[in-house]
Amino acid sequence: MAGITPPTTPAGPVDGIEVVPTGRGAQHKEHRYGSRLPRILWALLSRSWVEMPINAFLIRHRDGLVMFDTGLDPAIKSDPDYIHQAIGQFLVDRIFQFHIGPDDRLGRRLEARGVDPATIRTAVISHLHFDHVGGIVDIPQADLVVSQAEWDQLSRPHPEHEWILREHIELPDARWRPIEFQPLTDPVLAMFDGGFDLFGDGSMILLPTPGHTPGSLSMLVRSEARPPVLLCGDLAYGGEFIRRDKIPGTGDAATLRHSYAQVRALLDRLPDLILVPSHDDDAAAALEAAYAVKRG
Ligand SMILES: [Zn+2]
Repeated sequence: MAGITPPTTPAGPVDGIEVVPTGRGAQHKEHRYGSRLPRILWALLSRSWVEMPINAFLIRHRDGLVMFDTGLDPAIKSDPDYIHQAIGQFLVDRIFQFHIGPDDRLGRRLEARGVDPATIRTAVISHLHFDHVGGIVDIPQADLVVSQAEWDQLSRPHPEHEWILREHIELPDARWRPIEFQPLTDPVLAMFDGGFDLFGDGSMILLPTPGHTPGSLSMLVRSEARPPVLLCGDLAYGGEFIRRDKIPGTGDAATLRHSYAQVRALLDRLPDLILVPSHDDDAAAALEAAYAVKRG
């Protein structure tokens, strides 16, 4: 008996989402799970480390390839001057551990899965922390989309004190495109204060989810054949923290709680929504299971 032939063309503009790991790292337990101690105390004194991935994401859209974040540059390990400022050099090893080598850079990771980095059309940057912009050097032809509120952080005094390293962002050939959020007509997204429809087809909507940084954004990816996905950067270090309203040890607590409430309201409207923070192995596995792709 003849079976039903599965469709060979995607039932919508999005054909897939893939996890692109760019090395691994570790953060303090207090960083990931929150702490009553002041940040500087646990940053300097904590001895407990929690392993985490440093993921970027590749979305295959009918109109071109899109990255969500670009990961960490292996130069953070090989170049002692990657962070220029003395305070950053002093703190970075106390706050983060990185397990990353040359093969983890974004360009090589893309090539390993048969994707020419030069074909990346757009990279949406959740926020400007160095472990999310490290791969922009490998995709100079791509438009780099970031929220205007996040871009404004570069004009404030000492953005490097918040791990926003201008020397690795304001590259001469980088094509930054700061965007303003606009009113949305989709009632499913009414809980958000605007959004930005990346391709104008509703398949990839950028949403303001500040708190980790003032201009952090998330990207809702919808395709007809697969569950919806919210790529949420560092809004949380695990999807369950948003569901349980448990905020981490960094960021603005009140703003994070407001963003968490908005995402929970979105979950009420889209119960099969997969929440995918950038530093969450479980979320990456759930995404890969839903989209049936393998790591490269
Ligand atoms: Zn971050």
